[in-house]
Amino acid sequence: MKKRILAYGRLSEAQLAQLANEFEIQQFHGLTSANDPAFRAALAKAHGLIGSSVAIPAELLDEAPHLEAIASISVGFDNYPVEALTQHGILLCNTPDVLTETTADTGFALIMATARRVVELADFVRRGDWQKSIGPEHFGSDVHGKTLGLVGFGRIGAAVARRGALGFGMQVRYAMASPKPVLEEELGAERRTLDELLAESDFVCVTIPLSDTTHHLIGADELTRMKSSAILINIARGPVVDETALIEALEEGRIRAAGLDVYNHEPLSQDSPLPHMSNVVALPHIGSATHETRNAMAQRAVDNLILALSGNRPISLVNEEVWESRRGA
Ligand code: NAP
Repeated sequence: MKKRILAYGRLSEAQLAQLANEFEIQQFHGLTSANDPAFRAALAKAHGLIGSSVAIPAELLDEAPHLEAIASISVGFDNYPVEALTQHGILLCNTPDVLTETTADTGFALIMATARRVVELADFVRRGDWQKSIGPEHFGSDVHGKTLGLVGFGRIGAAVARRGALGFGMQVRYAMASPKPVLEEELGAERRTLDELLAESDFVCVTIPLSDTTHHLIGADELTRMKSSAILINIARGPVVDETALIEALEEGRIRAAGLDVYNHEPLSQDSPLPHMSNVVALPHIGSATHETRNAMAQRAVDNLILALSGNRPISLVNEEVWESRRGA
């Protein structure tokens, strides 16, 4: 008998056909919460899940006695109770690498857009306000040659740094990561404490995963340490930055601008001041959102799930210990 899987992410026809070859699939189009009664009921017989952007609370695992693997269509895994999954012996797979360059492109787009005021000034033209040559009140600041500070210096952080150092002659600093001698050699990157990095950088780019230890890592104190001319970019997860403190810092001109792809609550409410501030470029969580990359992520998740449910090691695994204990068993 085929194993049963629940699919709640965007998968192509070919990917669904590939899964249907192996499994019995139940699809949940537009699922926004794991508390959806039909989804909860289906968990009782599910061996695998494939999807993204839906938080899976630890309590639900008790209702999923046959669950063997979850294939998330994302690299970040803050939506999953990793410890509980590991205790239940459930493999958690993610999609690193295939989205690194695309997400770094988004980060760099935010760096350029905020520094050169691209969105604000494009709106100025669209409104018909461009009636005479622009003056200093519309000038931006340079990106090339400036100091770029990466908070977290993993795959995506390094890819942003590579763009900055090799494309724009930027000085790269990094914090909140183990020493990276190869990248130091390649990019001239220098490791700093977080406080040093915040004080030195013209652009502070947050690429660190969200976890209990990184929640509100960038708060009021950290924002105060930044230069008043500096720009904060967040392409990691919203709650790594204290959004209330960020809004205050932007309103009071304690930092120049922010380029944001992620927020405390998504979709971002129109009641938030952020989308209305001229010194904020707010994107709708598009870090990896290109046709090519979303397709590659979905394919990686499909491959991970097929491998996991057929007793093979998935390509990308978050809780390696589950695989190790299965092999040892
Ligand atoms: P990664 O390769 O694992 O890099 C994470 C970096 O953060 C590493 O340098 C790591 O240090 C450092 N770090 C410091 N404290 C950490 C902690 N408590 N837990 C984990 N890492 C810690 O991850 P990545 O592929 O670059 O992705 C980073 C994050 O970007 C993801 O977790 C995700 O949330 C976010 N993301 C967002 C989008 C978007 O759409 N905006 C798209 C993709 C990813 P070491 O170097 O010492 O390991």
